[in-house]
Amino acid sequence: MELKFHCTMCNEEYAEPITICRRCSGIIVYKPKLPTSFKVYENVKSLWRYEQFLPKLPVRITLDEGYTPLVKSKTAAKMFGHVKVYLKDETRNPTGSFRDRAASLIVSHAVSVNVSQLICASDGNHGASIAAYASRANMECYVIVPSNVDEGKLAQMIAYGAKVEEYGTLLDDALDRAISIAFKKGYYQASAELNTLSIEGLKTIAYEIYEFLGGVPDWIIIPTGSGLTFYSIYKGFTELLELDLIDSIPCFAIVQSSGCSPIVTKLKGIKCTETKKKSIIKGLNVREPIFLNEILRLSTKVRIEGVLVDYSEAVSTILTLARNEGLFVEPAASAAFVGYMKLVKEGIIDRNDTVIILLTGSGLKSIDVFEGASRRKQLTILKSLDTKALILKLLKVEGPLHGYAIWKKLKLKVTVQAIYQHLAELESKGFIKAIQEDNRKKYKLTEKGYKLLEMIE
Ligand SMILES: [Zn+2]
Repeated sequence: MELKFHCTMCNEEYAEPITICRRCSGIIVYKPKLPTSFKVYENVKSLWRYEQFLPKLPVRITLDEGYTPLVKSKTAAKMFGHVKVYLKDETRNPTGSFRDRAASLIVSHAVSVNVSQLICASDGNHGASIAAYASRANMECYVIVPSNVDEGKLAQMIAYGAKVEEYGTLLDDALDRAISIAFKKGYYQASAELNTLSIEGLKTIAYEIYEFLGGVPDWIIIPTGSGLTFYSIYKGFTELLELDLIDSIPCFAIVQSSGCSPIVTKLKGIKCTETKKKSIIKGLNVREPIFLNEILRLSTKVRIEGVLVDYSEAVSTILTLARNEGLFVEPAASAAFVGYMKLVKEGIIDRNDTVIILLTGSGLKSIDVFEGASRRKQLTILKSLDTKALILKLLKVEGPLHGYAIWKKLKLKVTVQAIYQHLAELESKGFIKAIQEDNRKKYKLTEKGYKLLEMIE
């Protein structure tokens, strides 16, 4: 049986799983014939337990993706006394990210329509997922990646046997290239943003949240590039609403990197900033998000808050989560946690709210955030992060100190010159500032330094 897909605006029907209507630019979706109740296959511990809600496919390519746990956050409890915060741990998927959900649906469909070559554009996780599932299905896979792809994700694609081509600097460039190759060579289009079956795979996150909580959370925090993940989870909840299982849709927070934030700037009505290379967070860089207009349209019906996160905030929070929660995540995922912290501090999220934070993928995929390729260098950087944290902590407790006093009080096995080097770096980043006191140059914690320390602690 051939699947049919429909435009959410003009209802035009399509036989291919595209995402944008050629007639009216509306979003194309698969409209499942919903069962009368929330019937799940209890024994199936993957997203296929929700088979009743998914497109009927004659072939299934699966690695038991989905059905990931909600881990109660210790950091949120410690920091804000906020106890109903759950981390949706998508790092436990077969390739270490939530994109496996989409890949299972897309590759299963590709096999059922008898194609043997797949192409996708991806800035990381999706390419790794498609490559894995394509190898499982014995298909040829081409992945177009922008230049800033994470090393770990690239390694996965290559290991799974995909042919990888680097093109452009952002996902938008890679998508254009994938569209043109698919058109010329007749490859199956497996890019997440261009294949509506990714929505079907990702929407199962909503079902799982509902099933685990036994209801709807107040907030879901989603790291966002193209807006696809938000839209998919939103669609999952609308289907539960249609079934009368829930009576409201949760509020959403869309987290983007301050270096590339077209959705958040539009949502907040702030002036659009240029893409800043230094402050972008890998996996979240889309200049022209496909779901932007849809998100703006939905923001009049559902509460959607936008939050901006800096790269440095995301990286330091990787360590916070690893050390407090035992979860090692990628920067896009830790950015979601930073977004949560900001919304609590701004009073937008209440400490009694039930909050879900989507941890999209594993930190093993992006160890290059600690810069440099060598292990020794990574360890040095991790260690120096520690020393810097100790300096900030000391300045918080003792107030302004001069460099030599800092070195003496810290009693670390480092030279006094190394301490001065750390101080210079902290000062250049605005975490501390030099003042003159008693005729000596002393260092003082700035507001920004307090914030960083709070986050580390
Ligand atoms: Zn249409």
